[in-house]
Amino acid sequence: MLDAWLDITLDSETFDSEPNASQRGRVPGGRYHIIAPGVLELVPDRRVSDSTVSVISAGIHGDETAPIELLGDVLARLEAGLYPLGAPVLLILGNPPAIKQATRYVDTNLNRLFKRDVSGNSDEHRRARLLMQEVEAFFDRHDPERNRPRLHYDLHTAIRTSRYPRFAVEPFAAAPTLAEQWQLLAGAGIQAVLSQHTHSWTFSHFSRHYLGAQGFTLELGQVAPFGANDLAPLVPMRKLLEALLAGRPARQTPAESMAFFTVVDELIRESSQFELCFPDDTANFTAFAPGTVLARDAKAGVYRVPDNTPLCVVFPNARVETGARAALLVHPVAPPAIPQP
Ligand SMILES: [Zn+2]
Repeated sequence: MLDAWLDITLDSETFDSEPNASQRGRVPGGRYHIIAPGVLELVPDRRVSDSTVSVISAGIHGDETAPIELLGDVLARLEAGLYPLGAPVLLILGNPPAIKQATRYVDTNLNRLFKRDVSGNSDEHRRARLLMQEVEAFFDRHDPERNRPRLHYDLHTAIRTSRYPRFAVEPFAAAPTLAEQWQLLAGAGIQAVLSQHTHSWTFSHFSRHYLGAQGFTLELGQVAPFGANDLAPLVPMRKLLEALLAGRPARQTPAESMAFFTVVDELIRESSQFELCFPDDTANFTAFAPGTVLARDAKAGVYRVPDNTPLCVVFPNARVETGARAALLVHPVAPPAIPQP
């Protein structure tokens, strides 16, 4: 049944293979439909009024397994009748071949290809085009009037340890984040928020920028193989995802319980001779004092923290492709002003 969907998806050989024959079925409160490999639509028999139309994706990076296990739990608990389906939800396994190979990607990083005019013919390029098409069609099917905010959570885990193991990345886009979203994320155990300062062609940015959704990349701990994840810290997040499927309200706590950061700069790898000048095991959000040398690049030269502003490093990875981002540089900001009821 449904929890087999994960296995079936990971058994298929390529992105293009036919979905398994058991493409449709029933779940408590509604039905499911596998509309493409790794793309599962859940449709309630009766939609709860004021419920949210949501996209939940995982496995855009193939070695980030905790969110996949989390989705497996959410589906198993739905099938077991622990809650009924009450809202339309699209579940996505982003990069099945990479998940099978336990690698971040096969040809290129999928999470920078979500741009409408993206060209390229790798498996990942074709996958990005398919996912963009399916997400847009899903929102148009279930939310043509945009009566309620559209929602997309793209679930990841980070390569490094982190001063905040669970944090949200708010993509840069015209659509502002609603106060309710901050409170829901805080209620789901998110500890920090990182606001992007420029367009970055990730999956959650796609939903926010092109489709007006409340799109977030959620980092839920650290990369580990299947079976080695501790899902206990993710129970509040599981409850939020289940509330979305059920169409029920979820726990909200004040946004101020999270630390807020904004991106001020980024380190780009511009040549084959590139190095980050801090240890490999530096945790995300580690702060560096003004004047500290952070990177050396044969083409771009030395990057030094500017005067007067300590900077924190997030997502450092010297082994990115040339031309790609090797780290974000961020600093703390005040939480967004949220009108009190
Ligand atoms: Zn990731």
